[in-house]
Amino acid sequence: MINKYGYLEKLEIFFENKEQRVKKAQCTCWYMSILRRSATPSIGEKSNFSRYPYVIAGCWLILLIGGCRPAPPPNIYHETQTLLGTLVEIKLIATDPSAASAALAAAFAEFGRIDNLMSFQSAKSQLARINQAAGGKAVSIDAELFQLVLQSKYYAELTAGAFDISIGPLSRLWGLDNKQYRKPSSEEIAAKLPLVGYSMILTQSKPPAVRLARPGMSIDLGAIAKGYAVDKAINILKRRGISSALVNAGGDIRTIGTRPDGNLWNIGIQHPRKPKQILASLRVDNQAVVTSGDYEQFFMYQGVRYHHILDPATGRPARGCQAVTVVAQSTAAADALATGVFVLGPEKGMKLIEGLPDTEALIVDAAGNVSVSSGLKGKLDFNH
Ligand code: ADP
Ligand code: MG
Repeated sequence: MINKYGYLEKLEIFFENKEQRVKKAQCTCWYMSILRRSATPSIGEKSNFSRYPYVIAGCWLILLIGGCRPAPPPNIYHETQTLLGTLVEIKLIATDPSAASAALAAAFAEFGRIDNLMSFQSAKSQLARINQAAGGKAVSIDAELFQLVLQSKYYAELTAGAFDISIGPLSRLWGLDNKQYRKPSSEEIAAKLPLVGYSMILTQSKPPAVRLARPGMSIDLGAIAKGYAVDKAINILKRRGISSALVNAGGDIRTIGTRPDGNLWNIGIQHPRKPKQILASLRVDNQAVVTSGDYEQFFMYQGVRYHHILDPATGRPARGCQAVTVVAQSTAAADALATGVFVLGPEKGMKLIEGLPDTEALIVDAAGNVSVSSGLKGKLDFNH
């Protein structure tokens, strides 16, 4: 069954019971080997086979009274919080409840830290300082934010400007920042277009600083920050010894390891026009799966759908796709590419994906036709 976060749930009870049975069986074997050793006469000792039944019975009694304490079975720990303007869900498998809750807390704290650093909405984030100084002096920032700006410029170049974090003035114009969506006039859009263009984001590495060339410019990291935060949270879970987990920030998903049954995590890709239905599912091996779609943040006006993925060239919602799912090694990369491919449209977008190593995509075009990159063929279970 698909849950509301976009991946498949399975009955976990079975796996837990199975795991418990395995642990119990191991435990019993361990006791049996001790029993055998204690019942074997040492050199020089007279063998007395008549004592065997008592020894064995006594030991079994100890076993029954003392109880064979199996190692605690792995449990699924699950928590959701609203961070970075979206629902963040972390699910992990662990045997130690206190280690699990500490890992969850640390991963959520990481989301909070990144939110404080990179929020477009908050006037207090470090990103806001760059935006407030647009047209003025360079602003010194943390190396981490600086690196993400550089990475974003890289993806802007790779997508020929389809993904562009200097989209900020248009994001505000369409009400994307506070989710108070509105349809601006053509004049309003035309007035903002000269403020959008990643080549006007000027960077200096020593010390790390960013300057926006024109007053009124602003950086909006909304199309990459969630993916970046998922990568950071995954690193934290790994450092804490978690070997099985799934992190989902509003459709930006990455997994660690396998589920307790040994199967890879199964991710459901939502159907862009049939709410609560999955289009296809795929098993992911420590990978990121990110979907950008026109079906979650949108409004209808005179029968036309206006959504939150804007074409920086026109200043209007991109029209080539309904949804783009990208599978990649890092969630930040998949996030930037899903947005960029969405704007590029199905043909140019798929061409770009086919040329990138370890990167795959499923694209649903504006008419609902599905195309799949060569490396994903045969790996998707379509829900016909
Ligand atoms: P979601 O946030 O639903 O995962 P995306 O990753 O595609 O979807 O990000 C969309 C957000 O990114 C928008 O809300 C806006 O803030 C910003 N954005 C919109 N269009 C672009 C674009 N072409 N390039 C970069 N950022 C964009
Ligand atoms: Mg994105």
